[in-house]
Formats: sequence, C-alpha cells, structure tokens
Amino acid sequence: MAARSGNDYLQGLRTRQREVYLRGERVADVTSHPGLSGGARAIASLYDQQVALADTMTYRSPKSGDPLGLSFIVPKTQQDLERRRVMMLNWARTTCGMMGRSPDFMNVTYAAWAGAADYFGEKTPEYGANMRRYYEYISENDLVLTHSLINLQRSRTVSGAFNLEEGTALQAVKETSAGLVVRGARVLATLGPLADEIAVYSPRLGQHTAEHSPFALSFAIPCDTAGLRFLCRDSFDYGKSHFDHPLGSRFEEMDSIVFFDDVVVPWDRVFIYGDVDRLNNTAYATSSSAHTSHQGAAKNLAKCELVLGVALLMTETLGNAHLPHSQERIGELMMYTELMRACMRAAEADAKPNAYGVMTPASLPAETTRNLFMTAYPRMAEILQLLGSSSLMILPTEADMTGPLGAHIEQFLATENSDARSRVKLFHLAWDIACSSFGQRQVLYERFFASDPLTRARALAAIFPKQEITDRVRAFLDMDDTTTHRSGADT
Ligand SMILES: Cc1cc2nc3c(=O)[nH]c(=O)nc-3n(C[C@H](O)[C@H](O)[C@H](O)COP(=O)(O)OP(=O)(O)OC[C@H]3O[C@@H](n4cnc5c(N)ncnc54)[C@H](O)[C@@H]3O)c2cc1C
Repeated sequence: MAARSGNDYLQGLRTRQREVYLRGERVADVTSHPGLSGGARAIASLYDQQVALADTMTYRSPKSGDPLGLSFIVPKTQQDLERRRVMMLNWARTTCGMMGRSPDFMNVTYAAWAGAADYFGEKTPEYGANMRRYYEYISENDLVLTHSLINLQRSRTVSGAFNLEEGTALQAVKETSAGLVVRGARVLATLGPLADEIAVYSPRLGQHTAEHSPFALSFAIPCDTAGLRFLCRDSFDYGKSHFDHPLGSRFEEMDSIVFFDDVVVPWDRVFIYGDVDRLNNTAYATSSSAHTSHQGAAKNLAKCELVLGVALLMTETLGNAHLPHSQERIGELMMYTELMRACMRAAEADAKPNAYGVMTPASLPAETTRNLFMTAYPRMAEILQLLGSSSLMILPTEADMTGPLGAHIEQFLATENSDARSRVKLFHLAWDIACSSFGQRQVLYERFFASDPLTRARALAAIFPKQEITDRVRAFLDMDDTTTHRSGADT
C-alpha cells in the first residue's frame, strides 16, 4: 500500500474503534468529536499534502516500489537527510510548528531503529526480526504512531529515578503463549486518540537499576487493542471560529494518559523485554535521538518563523517597530530563528553513517536545537507578550465585528497601518501563541516534551567533545608566561 491520503487516514481511525475518554464520556468517533476533530483534520491535511506533492513528500519503497511517506526513509546519504528535512519542514510549516507529534516524529524513530535492527536482535534474534517486520508494516501502510514513555509522577528519588511501583508503573505481569501481558499506566501520549498504533519504550538514562526488569519494555501495538484506554485532558479546541481561535481550532493534537489493563502484547510486537541496559542505550546506540532532534529542529524552525512573522506584523500594526526595545526583541527572535536553521543544516552537513550504515545527523547541533528550545520558546512567547501588552486583550470576537459595536470597532481599533479587522485577527493569533490555554500548553510542551532540562543537559554533556576544549585551554595555560619572556617580547 502507498502513502495514504487524508481520507484514508480518517477512514482508518473510524474503522478501528479505540477506547478514548474525554470530558467524562467515551468518544464514539474521534474524527467527529468537537474536541478532537480539528486535530484529526490537521493530520489528514498532512497526508493530503503527501499525495499532492508526491515528488517532494514521498520516496519509492525498496520492497514494493510504492511511493511511501519520506519520513519513513532509512537515510543512506546526506541527500536523503536533506530531502527528508524538506518534507518535514513542509509538514511543520503547515501546522505552524504547533503539532510537535506530527507522524514524522515517530516515523524517523522507527526508521532509525529498523536501520539498526541488529541492535535489538543482538541477544534475542527474534527481536531484531520483529523490528524489521514492524517497520515494514507501518511504513508500507503509512500508519500514525503515538508513544508513551513516562510513568506517572508519584514520587521521585534524589537521582530523579522513577518510582517503579507495582500496579502503577507499566510492567510485564505475565508471559503467555499469545504474548506478554502488561499492566499499569503511562503518560503522556500526545496524539494518542488520533493514532493507529502506540509505541512504548523509555529512553531515559539511569532509570532502571535491576539487570532484568519487568519495567524494561519496548513494544508497539494497535490503539484498539483490548484493555488499552486513553484518558484525554480537556480539549483546547473550544469550537470557536478560526478567526477567534486560530491555532486551537486547527491544531489540537491532544495529550492523554494511557491505562493498560492486562493488555496482551503479541510476541512479534516485542522489541526489548527485561534488558535494562539495552533499553537505556537504545536512543544513542541506534542514533534515533539524532534523528528525532533533526525532526524537532524542522518543527522548531517553523515555530520560530511563525513567532517572528507575528512579531514583525504586530510592531508594524502598532507603529512601534522603530522603537529600540521593539528592535532588540525582534533581533532576539531573529537570532533564535537563524540558530535553529543553522544547527539543522549543520546536522545535515556534518552527518555521518553510524555503525549500522544509517546516515545520521550530527548529534551535537541536532541535540542543541532541542536543548535550546526548552528555554528559547518560553522566551519567544514572553516577547510576544511584551510587544503586545494591552493589544493582546483587545480581542473582539468575530461576532463583535458585525455586532452592535461594529462601527466603533472599525473606527477606534484601526491603526495607521492596519484596518480594525486585520488588527484584531492578527492579535487573536498572537494571543493564541502567547496567552491562551493552547499557547501555554505549547510552552509546557517545549519545556518538557523531550524530558526534563537536567536530563537533556546530561545528554548533551555525554556527547560533547570536552577533551578538545579543555586541551585548548590547557595549551594556553601551558604557554610560557614568565615576566622576563613578556618584557623580552615587548621590546
Ligand atoms: C505537553 C506535553 C506533551 C508530552 N508528550 C509526550 C509524549 O507524546 N510522549 C511521552 O512519552 N511523553 C510526553 N510528555 C512527557 C514528558 O516526556 C515528560 O513530561 C518529561 O519527560 C518530564 O517528566 P515528568 O513530567 O514526569 O517530570 P519530572 O521528571 O517529575 O520532572 C518535573 C520537574 O522536577 C524536576 N526534577 C525531577 N527530578 C528531580 C530531582 N531529583 N531533583 C530536583 N528536581 C527534579 C525536573 O527537572 C522538572 O523540572 C509530554 C509532556 C508535556 C508537558
């Protein structure tokens, strides 16, 4: 089967009835529920783009010859990485970078893992074969994956390790001929209700201590598997018009808690079981971390472009673009935008094949985009608040524009550079980035989606070539700095 259209995707969601709960009720159809349908349509539009721009968005399957979504490619050359980035940036720009879990995130993860399938099969050859078969299945059928890696916050040790409690943290409770029976809960499956399959693994280093642990799991199953239940947070799509709620009405990707009530994971869907070190080392040994950072960099760039573009239009509209404080803030946004672009391109330019022959984005620049955005994005939202101030609360609704005070709005809200309607529309967008619940969830997302800041800092430190830097400083310190030498040199 080839790359899917939006309709194929939506039809797939309707056919496979998963258990999703929202606002106290089971959702009958996620594609038509008011809290979820906007997000489903947005993902569908990405798949329509694949079909419409097949030359740019797909590649030929080495197996079937069919056109497959380019984010599934196992890159072998730098050109593969560049082509894939063009495709991912197209998707990210379509959603203004507001759907961090667009399907390419998981597609690049499994492509990296399939390329390094021997890693999974090193001790248990079946697991390597499972990985190859599963990757082929999801890429040829163009399936959407969600993932949930984290056990619920209950208590943390000083080292930050998870409290692996029986009955709450997800664990294997039984081995049967049909598969592994797992029980517990996991967070936070973004896109959970809108995905075809759920992947469970955990990339966080140092969180397991035992050598064989029932908590050390990597598997993937269909979202309609018996016993699997998704509990959504409240939706930030309030059913408002695109004018009133430009981002929330379009890009609600939804986050969910996942309950596993004795869920059977068929053996051919198990990739790691019990092997603590293998689970902990997966992201770096297979280079999937570099690939997901590269995907994230494209998303970050799209987000930077949106915020910068909005900031430029805001200052133009309010007539304060020439003021020094506006210029300084806009300059900061430009810097973030160019840093993202530069690191993304550097990751491609310095890419090298990994031990499995997969062309791998250079880790340092790729990881840097992820770490930087944890603090840069909250600051970007803050800059919009600082630039907008009261205008971020001057938000008549679409109904107000033609209501009893419509004439007042037209007269008083126009600026030298903008009519009232354009001003209000623009500031609804700025508000949805910097102030609304949808916008604040984006800030939280960028702070935490890739784990907490300390974990990320440690991950960066682990790959940084520290020796090179300290050697250079040592060489400087070792230079002859006697006074006589200096006076001699000066004369
Ligand atoms: C919007 C959003 C979407 C997400 N989507 C997904 C998803 O799709 N899939 C998925 O698997 N996960 C997802 N996550 C979850 C994400 O992976 C976690 O939030 C992240 O790994 C941090 O884990 P935690 O939330 O349990 O916080 P914790 O690890 O408990 O950290 C909370 C805070 O406590 C601090 N802290 C932790 N331990 C210590 C300590 N020992 N001493 C001092 N301070 C400490 C941390 O630095 C942090 O500031 C998402 C999160 C958010 C917010």
